[in-house]
Amino acid sequence: MRASFYIGPLSAVLEKLGGDAKTGLTSRAAAERFTQHGPNRLTTKSRRSLFELLAEQFRNLLVVLLFLAAALSFFLGSISDGIVLISIVVINALVGFFQDWKSENIVARLGTLVTETAIVIRDGKRLEVPTTSLVPGDVIYLQEGDGIPADCRLIAGESLMVNEMALTGESVPSEKDAGFTTDADTPLPERKNYLFFGTTLARGEATAVVCATGNHTELGQIAVSSEGMEREISPLQKELNILGGYITRFALALAALLFIVQIFRNEPIKTALIFAVSVAAAMVPEGLPAQISMGLSLGVARLARRKAVVKRLSSVEALGAATVIATDKTGTITKNQMTITAAFFEGKNFKVSGTGYNPAGQIFDEAGNPLRPENLGDQKILFLSGFLSSTGTVNPPDSFHEDFYALGDPTEAAFATLLMKAGFAPNTIVEQYPRLKLFPFDSERKRVSVVREHKGKRISFVKGSIETLLPLCVKQRVQGQERDLTEAERAELLAVSRAYSAQALRVIAIAYRDLPQDAVIDLQTAESDLVFSGFVTMIDPPRDEVKAAVRAAHQAGIRTVMITGDHPATARSIAVDVGMEAGMQQSIAVINRDALQAMNDSDLQKVLGERSVVFSRVSPDEKLKIIEALQKRGDVVAVTGDGVNDTLSLKRADIGVAMGQGGSKVAQEAASLVLLDNSFATIVDAIREGRTIFRNLQTNVIATLSSNLTELFCVLAGFALIPFGFPQVILPVQILLVDLLGEMLPLLMLTYDPATAGIMKLKPRHKGALLDRARLVTVASTGVIRGLISTLVFVAVFKAHGSEAGAWETGLTSTFVTIVLTQFVGIFLLRGTGRLPGSEVFSNIWLFLGIALSLAAMLTIVYMPFFNTYLHTHPLGIVDMKFIGAGLVAYTLLGLIIRALRPQGLYAATRWHS
Ligand code: ADP
Ligand code: MG
Repeated sequence: MRASFYIGPLSAVLEKLGGDAKTGLTSRAAAERFTQHGPNRLTTKSRRSLFELLAEQFRNLLVVLLFLAAALSFFLGSISDGIVLISIVVINALVGFFQDWKSENIVARLGTLVTETAIVIRDGKRLEVPTTSLVPGDVIYLQEGDGIPADCRLIAGESLMVNEMALTGESVPSEKDAGFTTDADTPLPERKNYLFFGTTLARGEATAVVCATGNHTELGQIAVSSEGMEREISPLQKELNILGGYITRFALALAALLFIVQIFRNEPIKTALIFAVSVAAAMVPEGLPAQISMGLSLGVARLARRKAVVKRLSSVEALGAATVIATDKTGTITKNQMTITAAFFEGKNFKVSGTGYNPAGQIFDEAGNPLRPENLGDQKILFLSGFLSSTGTVNPPDSFHEDFYALGDPTEAAFATLLMKAGFAPNTIVEQYPRLKLFPFDSERKRVSVVREHKGKRISFVKGSIETLLPLCVKQRVQGQERDLTEAERAELLAVSRAYSAQALRVIAIAYRDLPQDAVIDLQTAESDLVFSGFVTMIDPPRDEVKAAVRAAHQAGIRTVMITGDHPATARSIAVDVGMEAGMQQSIAVINRDALQAMNDSDLQKVLGERSVVFSRVSPDEKLKIIEALQKRGDVVAVTGDGVNDTLSLKRADIGVAMGQGGSKVAQEAASLVLLDNSFATIVDAIREGRTIFRNLQTNVIATLSSNLTELFCVLAGFALIPFGFPQVILPVQILLVDLLGEMLPLLMLTYDPATAGIMKLKPRHKGALLDRARLVTVASTGVIRGLISTLVFVAVFKAHGSEAGAWETGLTSTFVTIVLTQFVGIFLLRGTGRLPGSEVFSNIWLFLGIALSLAAMLTIVYMPFFNTYLHTHPLGIVDMKFIGAGLVAYTLLGLIIRALRPQGLYAATRWHS
């Protein structure tokens, strides 16, 4: 039974599950169970149903207003108006429905993008497998920060803390231990020996046996929503909602006013009402929220294609405004592929050949002869202690990995490879030195120690950064003996190692201690009175794509900060390698921990504002201090983080970035963005996309509001012209048509606009405001200019036709066509980043498609008699087209000139602040 595995002794549970605590399942049994139980994943239906989505489209003010107008029309006998209004409602709803449906789909897919892996024991061996392939009975090994990949019963584990927020809502981590209960009524949170799928291991390491997978887990039973993006309203949407509120109130007030005016002009109440309601409906930018959420989710999909998975919508906006990327070195700038290149022992340098974790390679002595197990003297102590002070190891290729791969910490796996190169088998060694106690790595101590037993003796093996390890050493190993370590020798060792650090190599020092028989095994005894046995250098090459990405970031006005626990010299040399120095006025500032602690806030802010900075030997607290200093300067900061300790930094950052490969689940949950490939270059790609998304939305909003203003202008102009003997310049139905033709399709397509070449040449925009003063000027001026031109075209056309029948309808049609066409031209004036429109004009085929479709619909409306009667349009002749053409040319020229002359002014959307 599913729920009963927490009851009774472990042995009974293991028996029931048919798993062995030491050797796990056989791979055959695992395969069989997999066919029986299926993949370990939740199949949830968190998405809103199609019906719900459709229903939602009818729950907005525009629809209510239009229905009201339609009902009035029917009631008062004007069937055709009613039908037109209803059709508009339906088309509107369909488009909104499509947009929402598309957004939902995108969001639903996101959760499946980050592949998670687990370490499982099968056939007595440790393997790394995707969590989806886990089956009941599998014995798994969990480390701090891991997500719990299935419901499991603890086999062993000490001082465990688990965060069960996802299941119980409780944010304080709870303790777990491998005891047992007989009480079947134990509530979920009190099942101390049980780990639940979807929760995370906040502290400690554990082995556990899988009891339930996929939908059979507790989480699966309550069928919570699949883990994708958090559904939240982003700041941008909030801003738009507020704006929408203002406009709506204004529109309603205006409608009331128009109604009164109409009554005073002795129009029938019916006409006056329909007129007022339609004008109000036209003014409300109801399409925008759907456009925005569609634009954001399309952007999210594009980001995912670029290997950046968004967890919070707001981060998409923040990405576009990022001014600083503060990044880890290892794994993000570098490949996190550790290869030991040399070992230092008794002042001698042994070179190591080979790359990666593949044990093909040799160790050479100073004379260049390969070392063999037979001729390996006392050096063996270095190779052994390096490996024995680790928990990580390497595995041969398997069905999920092409080459030898690191199991656990790459830094540690490198020692297993080194051991094999020296001619030893890691598994045999581990058996000869069973582990008693582990003091895991933390970025504060910067070392790891493992206490082991060998031939009745207890030995503590320690490795870590040389500066933190040397002070703990009292002796050193020389020619098979332990000798005192003098001050001079310490200084010498530091000097030698520093020279290697400066060549971008990581230096790891190794030491050991024979523990007194009766000693208590605690951190203090394990890491004191040590015997220094040597050090190794390892290379972790920069990722190939990072250099170009750093350059791109600098060009885009984004500064780079490296925050690392590594040696300052190593960090500097990697930073120089990837070009962090290039393009900045001053050389890189390398600040180590002591210097950072000595700095006051203003010094820190100053240096952060001017240069590429490398912080070395930094701990998580200080990372937070750096982020806060940046934010106080007004920077928008993207920060990477990976460990459990990084949670605060990730949350504090404007964009918290976690790693998708081998990254801790805890960090992923705190982050707003997960990099599928862990690469720095992906952050820069994401920023480019973020800018593009924001930019497209901004263009969208400007174009929409500009059109609304144009329509308003024409309505008001109509009233103003009455004394001069003119009829209305535009009718409500046509206003709604402009919204359909001029906005819906083309603006929808605008969300597909790709990044332009120039977008990363601009400085970051100021955070916040989609519509700052400059953009409001753009909206106002384009709205008024287009309104003026459209009105003039109307006047000219109406006059030209004199007293002919259909003169008014021809004029109305001209107004409508002019508004739509200037909208199309306006979109192109708003796109791109140059002083003149450039290559971006042809970059989006969808936009042309949208415009083409809209034009076709427009021609139909203008030339088909059927629509002429219903929509009060009239076919246009050559003369009318000449007037419209003149208006269009005037608008285009004016736009081009203004854009070229005052890029910060009228067409402000084309430039960002510098
Ligand atoms: P980063 O990830 O920025 O390179 P870390 O905080 O991981 O830095 O490591 C800081 C230092 O701690 C390293 O330079 C190294 O000297 C030491 N170190 C890292 N990993 C291990 C490990 N597994 N065992 C021992 N020492 C380590
Ligand atoms: Mg690290």
